[in-house]
Amino acid sequence: MESGWPESLIRDIPDFPTEGILFKDITPLLDDGEALRWAADALADRFADTPADRVVGVEARGFILGAPVAYRLGLGFVPFRKPGKLPYSTVSVDYQLEYGTASLEAHSDALSSGQRVLIVDDVLATGGTAAAAVDLVKSKDAEVVGVGFLLELGFLGGRGRLGNGCPVTSLFCDWGDE
Ligand code: AMP
Repeated sequence: MESGWPESLIRDIPDFPTEGILFKDITPLLDDGEALRWAADALADRFADTPADRVVGVEARGFILGAPVAYRLGLGFVPFRKPGKLPYSTVSVDYQLEYGTASLEAHSDALSSGQRVLIVDDVLATGGTAAAAVDLVKSKDAEVVGVGFLLELGFLGGRGRLGNGCPVTSLFCDWGDE
């Protein structure tokens, strides 16, 4: 196995989508069948001993990783989407992004009280998106039992926003220039 694989397949794109943001482009990793399978399996393995009822994926790249994790664990998959995309009645939360503001929506009947939920996304940056996803799960009286990422931008301290008792795991962590 080549050194740094498959993290080396995550490409840095400077100043995207706005100046000053170093965007972590995961499409080269997704393009590589072995790497994609490794990432989905590795994330599923992190949750193998965590009893859970559903996997939530956060639009859009969280769908790509969350769905195979749900498949591997034999769990249903719940999409958390950007506003206006879900056809049935929805519940929503607003949140701050690394580069702007946004909202997340879920179908109002997507999760039920007491369900144990895993949340999956590609990148943990400031943690605003993941914190919003946690809030949305909790608004349904469901419980977040794990949050998993392909890559964590550790220098942004995002996991600190997810609160105590919310187990966070990431396959890779980028500490920036430290
Ligand atoms: P945040 O809410 O700041 O933790 O941002 C996380 C969400 O925005 C994830 O859904 C990521 O896909 C995306 N994102 C934020 N910052 C980056 C970045 N530097 N590179 C790639 N994706 C990012």
